[in-house]
Amino acid sequence: MLDDHEWNQVWSLSQANMENYAVLSTQGVDKSSAAIQLHCWVVNEYNSITSSALLHKDWYLVHYFRADDYGPECVMCSLPLRSSSAKLCVECGTARIEKG
Ligand SMILES: [Zn+2]
Repeated sequence: MLDDHEWNQVWSLSQANMENYAVLSTQGVDKSSAAIQLHCWVVNEYNSITSSALLHKDWYLVHYFRADDYGPECVMCSLPLRSSSAKLCVECGTARIEKG
């Protein structure tokens, strides 16, 4: 998972590379080569930030690892709730318990 600052790093890189991809595409550069390069930059940035060797086949999946898009951890199974307003854990069915 990426915190807000880390997410902004990956998002900025992704946006910049999408613009590069669009420019390259209009200049006759092979689209698959440009897409592979975009994939590598985004995944490498994600792996660098998280110190993981996680290789995603689809670079856009990195965009689903933003911590703020999820709720707090389930008190029973420790998985994050699906949203900030979730009332139950979809994995184990435990009701949300607010800490504090
Ligand atoms: Zn749970």
